[in-house]
Amino acid sequence: MPRGITPRRPARTGRHEGTGHAAAGKRPAALGTSRTGGDARPSIDRGTRSKKAYAPTAPARVKEILQRLDALYPDVTCALHHNSAWELLVATILSAQSADVRVNMVTPELFRKYPTVQDFAGLTPEQLQPDVRSTGFFRNKSKSVIGAAKKIVTDFGGQVPDQMEQILTLPGVARKTANVVLGTWFHKNEGVVVDTHVHRISRRLELTRNDDPKKIEQDLMKIIPREKWTLFSHQVIWHGRKLCIARRPKCADCPLENICHAADKTWSTVEMHKNALSS
Ligand code: SF4
Repeated sequence: MPRGITPRRPARTGRHEGTGHAAAGKRPAALGTSRTGGDARPSIDRGTRSKKAYAPTAPARVKEILQRLDALYPDVTCALHHNSAWELLVATILSAQSADVRVNMVTPELFRKYPTVQDFAGLTPEQLQPDVRSTGFFRNKSKSVIGAAKKIVTDFGGQVPDQMEQILTLPGVARKTANVVLGTWFHKNEGVVVDTHVHRISRRLELTRNDDPKKIEQDLMKIIPREKWTLFSHQVIWHGRKLCIARRPKCADCPLENICHAADKTWSTVEMHKNALSS
């Protein structure tokens, strides 16, 4: 991504002269309560345009966000390495509270040692623990992986189920994991993956005001077209890794900058909304 300017001190109020933008190049127009760049005065008149006019989940704004994410991350998918639904399920369980790169360091040897779901079903959690220890929370994760393997072998003929109701019956599998597997492997848009990145960025972009992942998912499912649920999840997760990081997001490099009003931006050419907080 092109870079080239050093961000100046961000304007908490959005007043910011000479608002050149490094990343966006020919930058898309702002929406809602944005201001123009250059040396122009703020483009809105606070006296005539009330804040009620700004609707962060308005279809036009959501569409603009999705288009910019498409341009930024056209072909992204799950970063967890896998060759089957079972491997993706295991990798996703192991990724809780752990970086994907760490999980990707563990799984090749794990699946070489235990190639099939039946191999896992024959283990005790204690036997698995040393192999997944470095991903953290290894006792619970071992229990979940072995429990899921046993249930898949016993109840689902050794195949990871591709239905939401069924996959949610597996030990250690909640909606986030289910959405990753159903969306990524089975290409079924049953929900939106709400991990820590989607949680943070959805709030910064004012796509939700909720803090509970289940409620955030419901909010996102209402405003994002179903066919984009899985892609949107992956795009936002990548955005959270590359630019919209938890501490000191790289707003000066972000093509969403002039439609983002997050309160904790590090650079802003638009008004920052105090309620648009990552948590
Ligand atoms: S402008 Fe900053 S806070 Fe907003 S989405 Fe981009 S990186 Fe995140």
